[in-house]
Amino acid sequence: MSSAESTVVMIDGRIVSPDKAVVSVFDRGFLYGDSVYEVMRTYEGSVFALREHMDRLYRSARSIHIQVPIPMDQFTDEVCEAVEASTNPSRVVRVHVSRGSGPMDFDTGMAQNPVRVIVVSPLRPPSEEDYQRGIGVALVRTERTVDNTEAAGAKVANYLVSLLALRQAHLVGAKEAIIVDGRGRVLEGATSNVFAVSHRVLLTPPDTEGILPGITRSYLLRAAESLRVPVRVTTLTRGDLLTAEEVFISSTSREVLPVTRVDESVVGTGEVGPISRAIHEEFRRLVQENQD
Ligand code: PMP
Repeated sequence: MSSAESTVVMIDGRIVSPDKAVVSVFDRGFLYGDSVYEVMRTYEGSVFALREHMDRLYRSARSIHIQVPIPMDQFTDEVCEAVEASTNPSRVVRVHVSRGSGPMDFDTGMAQNPVRVIVVSPLRPPSEEDYQRGIGVALVRTERTVDNTEAAGAKVANYLVSLLALRQAHLVGAKEAIIVDGRGRVLEGATSNVFAVSHRVLLTPPDTEGILPGITRSYLLRAAESLRVPVRVTTLTRGDLLTAEEVFISSTSREVLPVTRVDESVVGTGEVGPISRAIHEEFRRLVQENQD
């Protein structure tokens, strides 16, 4: 089955064929990246942490003053309907709300009808080799689109900064960029959250640094608690990553992906560490528990 055949698109509550799924050239998401989104995934056919993702979507929309035109329960039903219409066993679900179209004008008040788009497509997780051997990441000094704005921490669709950081990482053979801000703080991945293990304590930067509060991250903090791994939510520096015993990134589609190289430096022993493995296993157990 081609990926177009196994992709389901729903626009404003109606399923449309992927090759006819279009939005206006006047759509502000297209013109200005004036939109918010979520990426979710299914396990055994049902969406994991659906409620948390919908909450974050509405929070992101509020923070950029987009009024989602339907109540959360109705939107959640639409997501479930789109997922049920898909035949892939493992799916990634992108849920997008744009401010909509209007006269070409920078004024956010000019668009009246926010557009909802749901795209369900096959999940493409990292390779087994990446999980077994860990990946390399590159540290990239930059500032994210929403940093120091009223929308800090929102999941806005303007990912240009992340895309460019990722491109830089790919140029040096790394699979993720880790964003370091102007003050030298390690914040998160271009498309993931970041964790380090130092003296057997799990470290991750706080929400207050404007990171995207990852849903996977929140489950990993719970996983650490149930494994009695001590956690410190604290500012991380480049030096913390370079001297860590273990490093990993987290996201919905990658779960826990070990990092065994940061720039030119090997992390710890160069092998995937025991705490990363234990937390990943515990995360999978929590997912299972949540599906029951
Ligand atoms: N930070 C950024 C910048 C991201 O793009 C993502 C992926 N959505 C994450 C963190 C991880 O978030 P989640 O665990 O909710 O997928």
